[in-house]
Amino acid sequence: SPDSTEFFRTVDLRGRHLSRAALKAAVPRVHEESNREAEDAVRGIIAAVRDGGHAALRDFAQRFDGVSLEQVRVPRAALRDALAGLDAAVRAALEESIHRARLFAEAQRPGDVETVLAEGAVVRQRWIPVSRVGLYVPGGLAPLASSVVMNVVPALAAGVTSVALASPPQKDHGGLPHPTILAAAELLGIEEVYAMGGAQAIAAFAYGVAEAEGSAEIEAVDLITGPGNVYVATAKRLVRGVVGIDSEAGPTEIAVLADHTARASLVAADLISQAEHDPRASSVLITPSTELADAVREELLRQIVTARHGERITTALSGPQSGVVLVDDVSQGVAVADAYAAEHLEIMTEDSPAVAARIRNAGAIFVGDYSPVSLGDYCAGSNHVLPTSGTALFSSGLNVTTFLRAVQEIEYSRDALKGVRTHIEQLASAENLPSHGEAVSIRFR
Ligand code: NAD
Repeated sequence: SPDSTEFFRTVDLRGRHLSRAALKAAVPRVHEESNREAEDAVRGIIAAVRDGGHAALRDFAQRFDGVSLEQVRVPRAALRDALAGLDAAVRAALEESIHRARLFAEAQRPGDVETVLAEGAVVRQRWIPVSRVGLYVPGGLAPLASSVVMNVVPALAAGVTSVALASPPQKDHGGLPHPTILAAAELLGIEEVYAMGGAQAIAAFAYGVAEAEGSAEIEAVDLITGPGNVYVATAKRLVRGVVGIDSEAGPTEIAVLADHTARASLVAADLISQAEHDPRASSVLITPSTELADAVREELLRQIVTARHGERITTALSGPQSGVVLVDDVSQGVAVADAYAAEHLEIMTEDSPAVAARIRNAGAIFVGDYSPVSLGDYCAGSNHVLPTSGTALFSSGLNVTTFLRAVQEIEYSRDALKGVRTHIEQLASAENLPSHGEAVSIRFR
């Protein structure tokens, strides 16, 4: 049953020829009921922030973060102090992460296009950056300084000029976001940082917060990006339309498509590395090899013993969202991986690059034994903010185009318009919209 808690359960799809919809239903997922509960909570939080502004932000900081918040805006001096106090080796690592992310982000910038359809008939597509963005950086169970890099670098590469960043206030750090997060922001030149987390931060970015009792206004943004737990991801989904969002980058998922050639110790280490994020994280092995499945289960049990966050990992691996899916062969494995549309998909099979090339649905694909998800989390150059819960079917990980809009520009001369005049009049009349046609005809009388 999908409700049961069984350590790394088995879903056996061997010998079954399921439709795409049936496959989607068969793969391990978080139980719907628990997502609905989170959604109810988040609706209340969003409404409270819209109505209550700064006072609501203070209440939620107290309730969820155990912090009595005086100022939600982080002072400039705190950003500078955080960078000054940053460990040199961590700084070097952040700098390398920024360097690689920047090289790849800058290479992604798309070019404008111009097409001349007839003499004097020109259309163009111009990429224009979003004006103001709100970036979310998680800081509940772990302070994800790497998410500062992943959010900020593509935003700046796209040419965004107004960048605000939010991360939960930390009890142990005077109610400020974690110092490594502040240091990373300072390193990237981000000055507008707020100590706010969860759904309340997303609501504040979406609707703005009015000035009150000495607390300055938080100006609403046009686009919110960044990863987060179920509350953050649900809030983003609920405010979409008021603002833009990148993707539903919620609790982490890893699927590993592996065959008998894979090394169980590596597969298990990678499954554990993502389960470490959140009790709601998903770790799924898709394999035709029962020997590998058994060996991975044994390795998981062995490696969990020494993992610092063993309890959280065990919860994630025992949920309905984790387990092994047994398939007939690698081809069925590809179909299952496509139906699952994992945030992270690792391929550890014979000829991994060829198998990877057959995948259509995943947030990001990690090819071969030496491209683990942890590499992508920090230092591959790729982005770690990626779509979860099957939304990779229709959305992409964070990249430069997330922060751009393609605006089409139309410039016809009199003669060029005359060349299509009758076509416009005909189509307008066929649609029973004669005023459309008249707006063209009037120019030639
Ligand atoms: P977080 O900052 O996302 O969430 C912490 C906040 O959640 C708290 O400040 C609080 O406001 C809110 N919260 C906690 N309990 C709540 C409750 N019961 N009701 C309402 N709000 C509550 O930090 P986190 O919890 O460590 O989660 C980080 C998440 O980000 C993990 O799930 C991780 O897997 C995910 N992640 C996803 C991606 C991706 O791209 N998909 C990348 C990195 C991390």
